[in-house]
Amino acid sequence: MKQLSDNTKSFLQSEKRLFINNEWVVSGSGESFETVNPADGKRICNVAKAGKADVDAAVDAARKAFTAGVRSMSPGKRAALLHRLAELIRRDMGVLAEIECIDNGKPYKRALADMKSAVGHLQYYAGWADKIEGAQIPVQDPSVLVYTRREALGVVALIVPWNFPLVMAIWKLAPALACGNCCILKPAQQTPLSALYLAGLIREAGFPAGMVQVLPGDGETGALLSHHNDIDKVGFTGSTAVGKKILAASAASNLKKVSLELGGKSPNIIFGDADMQKVRESLVWACFFNSGQECTLGSRVYVEASRYDEVVDALSADTRGLKMGPGMSNPDLGPLISEQQLNRVQDYIRAGRTEADLVLGGRRQADELADGYFVEPTIFAAGNQQSSIVQEEIFGPVVTITPFSDEDELLSMANGTRYGLASAVWTKDISRAHRIAHELQAGVVWINGYDMFHPAVPFGGYKESGIGREMGRSALDLYTQEKAVWVKL
Ligand code: NAD
Repeated sequence: MKQLSDNTKSFLQSEKRLFINNEWVVSGSGESFETVNPADGKRICNVAKAGKADVDAAVDAARKAFTAGVRSMSPGKRAALLHRLAELIRRDMGVLAEIECIDNGKPYKRALADMKSAVGHLQYYAGWADKIEGAQIPVQDPSVLVYTRREALGVVALIVPWNFPLVMAIWKLAPALACGNCCILKPAQQTPLSALYLAGLIREAGFPAGMVQVLPGDGETGALLSHHNDIDKVGFTGSTAVGKKILAASAASNLKKVSLELGGKSPNIIFGDADMQKVRESLVWACFFNSGQECTLGSRVYVEASRYDEVVDALSADTRGLKMGPGMSNPDLGPLISEQQLNRVQDYIRAGRTEADLVLGGRRQADELADGYFVEPTIFAAGNQQSSIVQEEIFGPVVTITPFSDEDELLSMANGTRYGLASAVWTKDISRAHRIAHELQAGVVWINGYDMFHPAVPFGGYKESGIGREMGRSALDLYTQEKAVWVKL
């Protein structure tokens, strides 16, 4: 098993305060919460919890910084700061990956890949900082000049989940900062540590005081942010249930802008003519990546009836070969994030046993993994499309596999949930691939592949999977507002 480096150990031993105005401050209430290693259930350390006074102080610092300087910071300076932050994450990638590994449980090599992706994301948005342009609009009257400006929103709260802690934070921070906003980042209570380490790098990179604050806390802290009357926008990634609360909080307060990246229940569709070798290389990861704690998880597999048995056998064999263990032992799959998540996933497995046929898995891991939150990767053969394991996002290593006989039947099943985040189609028939891609109600369709991402490509959900698109040029719309200026010449 890989050992933690001295740098990581000393970070873990340091006091975990709130980061406001480029300072580490104690929480007003003195409250703190434990963060736990999900691989063994043991406390890692305590972290200060942001309460009302802290949220007010963070908003005040962000507002003052925006008004006093960030609002007029040059695009070139914003780009330089983002590039510098990317360099610092690259420098400390090993420490950050170790922190993620013990706080979230993910395999070390996957955590390192997360850090590389965060670096790429920052560099991509650094490139946008000086290309956020308005337009000159020709109107009929030659004595009138009209142009538009794209202006920063001001103070934005960024509320993120625990499944890719640092990556989710950077997906929001990078475009928000490139557009010239001041940010308040709230990491998930299960995984606050990489965001706190990031705060130190933000200060080292030279961001002015108040441009970024980091406020660890739970749903109460998130609710304080989403109800705050001096926050201009909430960018949120998390569950659909909490996304709806954030929309309601906006309506009940100052009608702040809201963008939502929410849950998914993505169909992974395999036609009989697909290249089965390529399907096989991808399928087990599409089903169980990050121990199933992934919003784009291909948790509903649909296979054309003629190849159904073959695909079930191949997926079962490949799933049996997956190694589980603590992230630092570099397994294929780590634990679930918490005891609560473990119980939730086990409840779905229990329901699944009554709703469908269990093909593989279904048990909590015992022996040396018994103290951690490990569940076997689990496959159900599900005929009933209304069952809970087909309709609801489980967010664990549980998938259903179902045969289909024609495109109409397939599409009614594939589109038959309230979610619409991602989807995939495997076929050699190019016309069919595009026909199905047009019909799928999802923000992403992968053809003959799965989980392909790039910072330049928009990502977000149809239906109850979200509002707005992150990544690419689209994210600039989430963190700016347009002003039309009319000049009578
Ligand atoms: P969650 O909704 O429980 O929590 C997400 C964040 O919201 C956390 O920081 C939490 O503290 C905060 N929060 C909780 N209650 C709140 C409230 N009332 N007001 C404001 N903030 C509140 O989600 P989770 O369990 O941390 O993450 C799993 C979910 O995230 C899954 O549904 C998954 O699909 C989704 N997710 C979506 C994407 C995407 O890009 N679409 C990516 C990753 C995860």
